[in-house]
Amino acid sequence: SMDWLEEMHAEFEDEIIHTKSTYVKKMSQDYYWYSPVLKKLLDHHSGDCVIAPRDEEELISVLSFAYKRKVPIVSRGGGTGNYGQIVPLYGGIVLDTSKLNKVLEMKEEQATFQAGCKLGVIEKTLRKHGQELRFYPSTFMKSTLAGFIAGGTGGIGSIQYGTLWDEGNVLQLSVVTMEEKPRKINVTKKEELTKYIHSYGISGIITEATIATAKKTDWHDMIVYFDDLQSALLFSEEVSRKPHIKKRLVSVCEAPLSSVFKPLRTYRSETKATVLLQVDPDQTQEVMNLILEHGGETTDTFAQYVKNHNLRVSDFSWNHVTLWWLKQNEADTYLQGRFDPHIYLDQVRQLKACFQDEVLIHFEWIKARGKLVPSSQPVIRYTTDERLQQIIDAFEKLGIKVSNPHTYLLEEGGKDDWIDDICIAKKQNDPCSLLNPGKTKYIAEGIHEMAGEEHV
Ligand code: FAD
Repeated sequence: SMDWLEEMHAEFEDEIIHTKSTYVKKMSQDYYWYSPVLKKLLDHHSGDCVIAPRDEEELISVLSFAYKRKVPIVSRGGGTGNYGQIVPLYGGIVLDTSKLNKVLEMKEEQATFQAGCKLGVIEKTLRKHGQELRFYPSTFMKSTLAGFIAGGTGGIGSIQYGTLWDEGNVLQLSVVTMEEKPRKINVTKKEELTKYIHSYGISGIITEATIATAKKTDWHDMIVYFDDLQSALLFSEEVSRKPHIKKRLVSVCEAPLSSVFKPLRTYRSETKATVLLQVDPDQTQEVMNLILEHGGETTDTFAQYVKNHNLRVSDFSWNHVTLWWLKQNEADTYLQGRFDPHIYLDQVRQLKACFQDEVLIHFEWIKARGKLVPSSQPVIRYTTDERLQQIIDAFEKLGIKVSNPHTYLLEEGGKDDWIDDICIAKKQNDPCSLLNPGKTKYIAEGIHEMAGEEHV
């Protein structure tokens, strides 16, 4: 029964509660539909209401309320996740964190924000103070700090600073628990932070985060063209490996991927492999020399074009490559995987031999645990779920570590190194399993059956 909805109206101001079904449905969705598999599984799910607390105190009252009535609750940041992370599998409350958006503290090389602060706002604020984000997802204009920490991996800047898990990037989290009397935990140790990073919010609700920042650079945007993918890969690797070339992005697309980057107009190509770069302006000459050595071509009008048209090269990197592709090829999808830096050229060659244009190679060079790796999000010309699985199997057989984007289960998404830590924290912080239930199979879901909710 939905008695709790009425009680909620009695307890909280109308201003922060939304029950209009079209709105609630919209707020219950992310970008899971990039996966035809998840689309089938998740399209019919929705929360029962959205609630948008205006401060931490109100947030804690909402949690106590939900705990008392055993109502599931899912935190929502920008809702830009790809794995249905915010889709409520058992109805309940969608917790909209967008009003928790205060800048709390800015220091030299680190800053603290409330959970719902948008990364685009954070980057702008930091730049005003001579700083910038160490790395950010290509969705930074919409996505939030806590959503990124609890749902993302890395992004533009990861080539220099690694991912969310690399020590020294996320410095502190304030987490609120889901208990009768919610506790506020201050998390700073590495082995404690891993309980909340990429946790889909199942182990606690992040209310504040402190992150390390970098000194601001006025990055120079470049696009480089190559006749063949191999040359593009070799060039991109060499730029990435040179430690003294400061860079924020090295993104490679096989032809014809760049042809769908509509706003880039004449800079797109049907036939050439492209490499998008953000480098320190002081080092462009050295990059130019490498381009020549590898037989690439560039154009000196690109950076100005990007500026004049208010574009961001990040919009054509990471999973934004898939976004542009799907705009024209609705039925297609993508994969995520880490190639082996020692044999990646061979892995690419074998994939192409096997699948030709059914798999279109796209990757970013990033650092992970201090090592440079080609992190890929290839576009897949989708036909059937079975065929998709065959392609995933082939990737794995070649030694490419797949992070499967076609599952909503945390432990099947391929970033499960800390799943045990996350589940230990969940048991302590969320004894009734009310936080984003159903996103891990490790936790007994008995409570939802008791509540008479339908199982997925
Ligand atoms: P949401 O989608 O709102 O939430 C993500 C997860 O975090 C959910 O499980 C949610 O419950 C949880 N959560 C949200 N707020 C809290 C909180 N306060 N406490 C606890 N849990 C919380 N990801 C990358 O890492 N790098 C990329 O470059 C990248 N590029 C992308 C490109 C496209 C086109 C798309 C569609 C997605 C991309 N993503 C990328 C995935 C996603 O956009 C990012 O990870 C983004 O940072 C998520 O932030 P969000 O605020 O939208 O999170």
